[in-house]
Amino acid sequence: MLKGRIALVTGSTSGIGLGIARALAASGANIAFNGFGDAGAIEALQQDVAKTFDVSTTYHGADMSKPDQIRDMVRQVQATLGSVDILVNNAGIQFVASVDEFPEERWDAIIAINLSANFHAIKAALPGMKKANWGRIINIASVHGLVASAQKSAYVAAKHGVIGLTKAVALETATTGITCNAICPGWVLTPLVQKQIDDRAAAQKVSGDDAKKSLLGEKQPSQDFVTTEQLGQLAVFLCSSAASQIRGAAYNVDGGWAAQ
Ligand code: NAD
Repeated sequence: MLKGRIALVTGSTSGIGLGIARALAASGANIAFNGFGDAGAIEALQQDVAKTFDVSTTYHGADMSKPDQIRDMVRQVQATLGSVDILVNNAGIQFVASVDEFPEERWDAIIAINLSANFHAIKAALPGMKKANWGRIINIASVHGLVASAQKSAYVAAKHGVIGLTKAVALETATTGITCNAICPGWVLTPLVQKQIDDRAAAQKVSGDDAKKSLLGEKQPSQDFVTTEQLGQLAVFLCSSAASQIRGAAYNVDGGWAAQ
């Protein structure tokens, strides 16, 4: 379905970004990876996806807190693979503390990586999409773009901002072949969430399994994690022609979290 399309997925060396990159590649898209990690492991990942799905892959190590590196990444993907048809803004970080104790530099980093990076990548990729009159922009927000949790002021502010940005871009592109939507996952068991489980187990002096159960029990009615494969399939659907009139939507995939 996506044969010949080129997808840039930020933060795709791990977790949700990697799941989405694999799903897009399985549908035929060539993939530009981004994110931190061991150089050899990233090279192996690129080769594995290229070989498994018979697509082209590339990698750019842009730090998503640095606008000039984001612009350089978009330019490099356009130069090496030909264009950026699908942009998945996924890279993100988390920090947990009450607002009166929240370190300023953590606030600035979360806003930069989880929100402003989306703006910079969209701004850089949009002219090429407009020229082709086709594009898919998928912003990985969070259920925290729809509702809040204590201790997560920067993350909640950034993710609410991502949904606002998604709507504004969707309106500006509404008469074109470019769509912009957000996906709002609940708990997904990735390294970002594993850290919160480990911190919870240490703070509550309970096992990892009990910490997992209490984490899910507080917020996610299904009591089960969302998977990266499920999010990948939604991203593929949003890239299909069936989704061409889905514009400015914020899809929650959250085991019922936001329904409460
Ligand atoms: P993860 O930690 O597994 O992956 C994050 C990715 O972003 C990695 O590839 C990492 O290298 C990259 N990254 C981090 N900082 C970067 C930077 N400055 N520049 C470039 N790359 C950077 O996390 P994840 O859980 O897969 O999260 C991915 C996205 O999904 C995030 O935006 C997160 O907020 C969102 N999300 C996650 C969950 C969850 O439960 N895991 C729920 C809702 C939303």
